[in-house]
Amino acid sequence: MVKNKLIFVFLDGIGMGKEDGYNPFASALMPTLDSLLGGKLVRGTEVYKNNLLVKGIDACLGVSGVPQSATGQTALFTGVNAPEILGHHYPAYPNKELISVINERSIFKYADEQNIKSIFANSYTDGFFKSFDVNTDNYSVTTRCMLAANSKFNTTEDLGRGKAVHWDITNFTLQDTPGNGIPSIVPYMAGQNLLHLATEYDLILYECFLPDLIGHRKDMEKATAFLETFDSFLKGLIDEKSPNVNILISSDHGNLEDLSTGGHTKNLVPLFCLGSLAPEFSSVNRIDQIFDGIFLNL
Ligand SMILES: [Zn+2]
Repeated sequence: MVKNKLIFVFLDGIGMGKEDGYNPFASALMPTLDSLLGGKLVRGTEVYKNNLLVKGIDACLGVSGVPQSATGQTALFTGVNAPEILGHHYPAYPNKELISVINERSIFKYADEQNIKSIFANSYTDGFFKSFDVNTDNYSVTTRCMLAANSKFNTTEDLGRGKAVHWDITNFTLQDTPGNGIPSIVPYMAGQNLLHLATEYDLILYECFLPDLIGHRKDMEKATAFLETFDSFLKGLIDEKSPNVNILISSDHGNLEDLSTGGHTKNLVPLFCLGSLAPEFSSVNRIDQIFDGIFLNL
């Protein structure tokens, strides 16, 4: 038996929207995704094949209001219905109640307990380490998941060695820091770097929150550029990939797919799985069910 591996690409703020002029997914040039899906990633798109699953799943989790990041990401990375626990959707960074859920069942801690070798692929800048403060209110769910597992954060040195991927895919946000020695890279190479982590690790998580930032600004030009960058990144991620390495893509809530509004949406979010485990995720209908889907199969 070949060992299953999984690379979870978390894109913040990506839903499946109407195919109209406000949806950059409808017009962006995404040849890699198009050829996999046979069309655009929009409302109603479904693919059920032996090596590819694409469907829309619920991010509202039975709680009224528009889904938000802290509760949505806690649901993704702990498998717990976080908005139900709070009684509402909670934005941005996790509060004390969510942190205690994460400390119990962080994806990295859970992986450790199951003897699954995991890594958070993202790199952290020197600024993060210099101003490190475990009591801050400003750490993301993924950072809290790392702290809960006592895991080692990737540095920009790891990034420079191709052993990490920056949250912006191409390192463009690092170019304003003089002397950091980290060049920008093409998205294809970032995808390859992420893929190659699967030789060493069984579960790899990567987070990109650029689509949520762009969605809040309702910027069609940047949205289109991001999706085209992401498509090249995806090509790098799947080129020469073995079938036992599974690429899972999902989100915490919609946003980018509807630029008629600068807020989040209640749209279904995509569940994309490319690899031999694809059929195993066909029963996942909500974002808090992805976690069990992962651990039942690794
Ligand atoms: Zn947001």
